[in-house]
Amino acid sequence: AKQNGRDNAKFFEAFMANEVSSRFQYEQQIKQALAQQQFHLLYQPQIDTLSQSVMGFEALIRWQHPDKGMISPVEFIPIAEESNLICHIGDWVLQQSIALLSAWQTAGVAVLPIAVNISGRQFVAEGFIDTIASLLQQHQVDGSLLKIEITEGVFLHDMSQCIDIMAALKGMGVEISVDDFGTGYSSLHYLKELPLDILKIDKSFVSGIGDQAEGDKICEAIIQLAQNLDLKVIAEGVETQEQANVLNVLGCHLHQGYFYDRPLSESAALRLLQQGQRT
Ligand code: C2E
Ligand code: CA
Ligand code: CA
Ligand code: CA
Repeated sequence: AKQNGRDNAKFFEAFMANEVSSRFQYEQQIKQALAQQQFHLLYQPQIDTLSQSVMGFEALIRWQHPDKGMISPVEFIPIAEESNLICHIGDWVLQQSIALLSAWQTAGVAVLPIAVNISGRQFVAEGFIDTIASLLQQHQVDGSLLKIEITEGVFLHDMSQCIDIMAALKGMGVEISVDDFGTGYSSLHYLKELPLDILKIDKSFVSGIGDQAEGDKICEAIIQLAQNLDLKVIAEGVETQEQANVLNVLGCHLHQGYFYDRPLSESAALRLLQQGQRT
């Protein structure tokens, strides 16, 4: 076991040395990707099952690398999050999404809100509120058409700072969702303290529905909690009719997932709007 431990340590050292240089290279490639417009956004519909219509979209980033092909955000977002790079990516995502809202307005279709993922570092960064305010102003888009998705990790920051930022967003009409709800380590205390609008049930809980008896229980608990706190609740990763049915019975009528739609290209999203938001 001792020999094994030493081998592991050696392996780890080599891995780390490699890791540092490759991390640097990776960051350079992300910078280049921003400059050379290798990123694009897809828009996944969010459905209101009561009215059976699309109620909005979530913007999801994609990296079309010239050599490596499509790279998942699960791979590059965590690396970008270790530095200010994530703020540059986040600014770009906000700019693209708000410009698209503006283009929809110009096209004369009934515009639906776009939810944008914002990482904790950017949320508490200097100038975040100003960036949003000036983009909305510049593109003549109302704040109620923009939503921000943050994860529980954000609430590990100074509580009063979070409250100030959220209050400023609220003032612009921008709604705030807690993404991946229930997967973080934060206490539930923040739910009463912060001016939140929506809890987003993580797909790991949704995929548990129908799997085993307890699978439904976590979704049920989150939906109850949201109802008690007067928050909206949306389920992500809805893949089956059974999951949709169970969520509806539990009182969660906002759904997002492959059962309804994959993340769509800009033109497919526009077509959906033009069709009068048929699901
Ligand atoms: P997330 O915010 O939890 O987004 C949901 C993920 O689930 C997306 O993966 C979406 O494509 C995927 N998904 C949607 N419906 C289903 C379904 O029915 N089944 C399954 N299995 N998956 C489904 P994606 O697009 O690969 O994004 C992964 C994560 O990367 C996101 O998780 C988010 O944390 C991050 N991310 C994506 N775009 C951005 C962005 O613009 N900014 C930041 N900061 N993070 C982003
Ligand atoms: Ca999200
Ligand atoms: Ca999630
Ligand atoms: Ca997430």
